[in-house]
Amino acid sequence: MKFNVHGGHNFKVQGASGCFSETKEDRNVKNLVIAKLQALGHTVYDCTDEDGATQSKNLVNIVNKCNAHSVDLDISIHFNASNGAGHGVEVLVYSDNSKAKPYAQNICNSVAALGFTNRGIKIRTNLYVLKKTNAPSLLVECCFCDNQGDANLYNAKKMADAIVKGIVGKTVEVKQEVTTVSPTPTAKAKSYLSNGDKGIAVKTMQTMLIAVGYSCGKYGADSSFGTGTTNALKKFQKAYGLTVDGKYGNKSKAKLESVYNAKTIQTTKKSNDDWVNRLNAEIKAQGFSTYPLVKRGAKGNITKLIQERLVSVGFSLKIDGDFGETTEAKVKKFQSNRGLKADGKVGEKTWEWLISGKSV
Ligand SMILES: [Zn+2]
Repeated sequence: MKFNVHGGHNFKVQGASGCFSETKEDRNVKNLVIAKLQALGHTVYDCTDEDGATQSKNLVNIVNKCNAHSVDLDISIHFNASNGAGHGVEVLVYSDNSKAKPYAQNICNSVAALGFTNRGIKIRTNLYVLKKTNAPSLLVECCFCDNQGDANLYNAKKMADAIVKGIVGKTVEVKQEVTTVSPTPTAKAKSYLSNGDKGIAVKTMQTMLIAVGYSCGKYGADSSFGTGTTNALKKFQKAYGLTVDGKYGNKSKAKLESVYNAKTIQTTKKSNDDWVNRLNAEIKAQGFSTYPLVKRGAKGNITKLIQERLVSVGFSLKIDGDFGETTEAKVKKFQSNRGLKADGKVGEKTWEWLISGKSV
């Protein structure tokens, strides 16, 4: 069979976080899903987008890549988030008649067999990727990246196995490593990566180098350890007081992971917490006992916070505290991107999404 596979979001407009980074694990899982499907003899295209600097550009780029090939199924890999409370797997499809539906059900079942709650298939007619891709498509919300129970249970390799099994009925071992949240030691051919190496471990390193500000040259995170990557790694080693040898061994790896984690997971979490704290303080100061319904015509600090959040998940908007026509239009877009009723009013469901800090 032929497949398009992509990881959701990118490091410019990141997905959710909490116990781990969705964006990072989206990539670990999709790399393994691709490698496994290919090892089983299928044709697979990686339609992940690392370039789009806004949420909508990211989605447009993904769909363009998907629609450049004629395939049997488009597979989108995501992780869910809902302030720590939600847990389990769900798979989203465009309609009840979608040809992706049987695959979606199989994926739910095989991921649930790992111990995750089976939230089942969800029909989502408003999600850009499901709506705009030509082939039957499905979006896997593997589990919740902000739920401790799910995070404890989660392992990229097992998740990829379950997804592959759900799609083609079986899976296969591949000799490729991933950087997982909980360290799972794997046998390595040599103790470091260097110029000339290829594969997922190289790609993971490149993705992290790029995310912390070290460009790997014009090919980006292409899984191939060439001159651009060597130079980036040497600059990183120099900046962090490591031996400048262009070899990616344990010390460089540990340092890069810690710098990367500090930059992505913790900062995202912190800014999310900060926003939620300021919001809660404002809600309390204004005498509300719960999140109020905010709609066109509203003015003030709560509107300002809503606008700030919309900007942080990729919308371009003036943060002026005035809930006018533009803000209403952006709220509608925010809602439709998330499968909510696009009424332009910030009510309970919309608040939940705003508070989660998730970009899609
Ligand atoms: Zn996502």
